[in-house]
Amino acid sequence: MEAADLLKKEEVVAFPTETVYGLGANAYSSEAVQKIYEAKGRPSDNPLIIHIAEEAMLAEVAAVIPESAKKLIERFWPGPLTVVLPKKGPLSPLVTAGLDTVGIRMPNHPIALALIKLAGVPLAAPSANRSGKPSPTQGRHVVHDLKDRIAGVVDAGPTGVGVESTVVDCTTNPVTLLRPGGITLEELEDTLGPIRVDPHLEKNTAVPRSPGMKYTHYAPNAPLVLVESFEKLEKLLKQAKEEGKVVGILTTEERQSFYKEADYVLSCGRRAELATVASHLYDCLRQFDQLNVDLILSEAFPVKGVGEAIMNRLQKAAGGNTVKAD
Ligand code: AMP
Ligand code: MG
Repeated sequence: MEAADLLKKEEVVAFPTETVYGLGANAYSSEAVQKIYEAKGRPSDNPLIIHIAEEAMLAEVAAVIPESAKKLIERFWPGPLTVVLPKKGPLSPLVTAGLDTVGIRMPNHPIALALIKLAGVPLAAPSANRSGKPSPTQGRHVVHDLKDRIAGVVDAGPTGVGVESTVVDCTTNPVTLLRPGGITLEELEDTLGPIRVDPHLEKNTAVPRSPGMKYTHYAPNAPLVLVESFEKLEKLLKQAKEEGKVVGILTTEERQSFYKEADYVLSCGRRAELATVASHLYDCLRQFDQLNVDLILSEAFPVKGVGEAIMNRLQKAAGGNTVKAD
């Protein structure tokens, strides 16, 4: 594969995973990893996740593998789960942004696994978007953001899960959920019993342990307001139209016929099946940029199952601009 040859030459290449497209580089090469930060415009204190293709690679990058991590790995790999472990070996210090831990996952996508095996090294790979924008779930999203900044994209159509991996810190006991994602809290607790949820996650405040929580993220160009009541959403729509704004609504199939006054109504899936919402969320956020709306009003979702990851991303896209039910 041409992409593997580019990776061997210290270049950065975007590739599909089951969550979102990743921007990969040889995790052992600071020259290569530096190019990820430059292409994305990513702050250098935000660590990268290492992607491996076989469990033998785990021992090359992790110093200790606690029992909790072994259980999670056995159940969820390959899949959308990142475990944070004490680091070891020749990893570029840029990968971990100076931390003594490293986040590692094995993606569940044949092209990602083949590419890592051909490259012969673990790949450091954050999402393949410009920092701060919604993550890419289609090859064309990567091209839009990074066309002239990277060596290539392996385009294999839309990714499936649509939100990033769940990040679990396995250096604490019990383990700590740092970022909700494709594997749900319920699934984690079903495997390990009750786990800790990082308090910053709930409060949505600036954060030390998982820098993914620290920056504005997933944000479309127009301000997005996350509205936790359908009535309030309709009121806000009316108000914005009176002010002459071009308004986009982010909704679901169940409610897409309700917003007659809106300029654009995008359905991101079925409320009754939240996995469909996760899968299309970022594409919808990106479509609003093309439509040049002045304001996006988004419905909210139940914070259970993959709804936890969906709400986490929408809260960040809203930059804290959430309207509560009462
Ligand atoms: P991204 O690659 O954009 O999906 O972001 C990766 C996220 O994984 C980071 O923003 C962190 O939240 C998390 N992460 C990666 N490595 C570590 C680590 N060593 N400790 C804590 N969190 C990590
Ligand atoms: Mg990202």
